[in-house]
Amino acid sequence: MNIKATLSNPKARAGLKAAFLALALLLAFLAGREFHELRHYEETVVSAPGLTERKMLSDYLASLEGTWMDSPVFVYDSGVPGGSVFVMGNVHPYEPATSLAAYIIMENIKVSKGKVFVLPQGNRSASTTGMLANAYPKFFSVPTSFGAKKYRLGDRGTNPLDQWPDPFTYVNYPSRQNLAYQDIRNMNRTYPGRPDGTLTERAAYAVMELIRREKIDLAIDMHEASLMYPVVGTYVAHDRSFDLAMMAAMTLTAGSFDMKCESSPKGLRGLSHREWGDYSDTLAVLMETPEPFIDRVVGPMTEQLFTEGKDEFLDVAARHGLTYVPYSYETGAPLWYRCGRHLSGALEAVAQMGAFFPEKEVLVEWPGYEELKEHDCGYFLHDPGKADPKLVFKQ
Ligand SMILES: [Zn+2]
Repeated sequence: MNIKATLSNPKARAGLKAAFLALALLLAFLAGREFHELRHYEETVVSAPGLTERKMLSDYLASLEGTWMDSPVFVYDSGVPGGSVFVMGNVHPYEPATSLAAYIIMENIKVSKGKVFVLPQGNRSASTTGMLANAYPKFFSVPTSFGAKKYRLGDRGTNPLDQWPDPFTYVNYPSRQNLAYQDIRNMNRTYPGRPDGTLTERAAYAVMELIRREKIDLAIDMHEASLMYPVVGTYVAHDRSFDLAMMAAMTLTAGSFDMKCESSPKGLRGLSHREWGDYSDTLAVLMETPEPFIDRVVGPMTEQLFTEGKDEFLDVAARHGLTYVPYSYETGAPLWYRCGRHLSGALEAVAQMGAFFPEKEVLVEWPGYEELKEHDCGYFLHDPGKADPKLVFKQ
């Protein structure tokens, strides 16, 4: 084909334009179908029988109702007076060992004193989109005896479909600290939030209201971090909760796995471990577990990298002392390891709260690190097809 001749012929030019338009529409359709699939896929969880109430974030801020930020909160009240604990996952849904850990808690929890609130999807909107341009899988699967269970692999920030555009600089309320523009959609930079702010600020405000109205004694925010980021494999604790987190870290390190403890910086605003403690009476603790999938140096971002955490480039980085926790290709950082750390990390923090503040004691059981090491995650999930329909939830 003579390109010059084709381009000088108006009819041929129109045909070429139409062909390119058709190709663009086809690609938009194929991509749109993928976006739609992730946006609308619902995860299933089978709650343990101890569930006493299911609330929504919109119960704490009505304007969230009908938005993609509204998210269910599951309440397990023993009926025996004691303290109260709040556990939250997936504030950053590209760290979804945290929502899986929350689901494992919900599927197995037994509370015999006090009450426990679980919010598995802290930023539900962010869990409905992938990290744009990062070319990573939409879902990950957990093998179980009743087949593979599929979960969403989301983004760090609120879906731009729900909150857009971003400003040039994001100014945290009420500290007026200037932060990176995209952090306006990062829920863990928007605390304490405000009832008339952006969607993300409103969700953050609803979580604050939950903590205040339910008089939460211990609030735990679960995250995953890249291994080349200093705050990994650690608790980050507010001033009032620092002693209990340090004791928990020492107890865990003497037992199953290494856990560090850091103090929440006073000058870094908008984060849960700072604002939850400053704007309520709760003892605020954030936990970070190592997630190779989000490290900058890793190879292809596959589902296997997410679930097994094995990467040769990160292995080289670790051998050069560039990671903040020990790492090797052989062991990787599999899902059971990351969920197990969170499950035992939360249990130990709850136990230490009871030791430091006996009047706030909560007695609770769910599987921990050693049990996940032995059985893996899927063992602790229940078949929705055989469960009491009243305990099966989709979200
Ligand atoms: Zn995070």
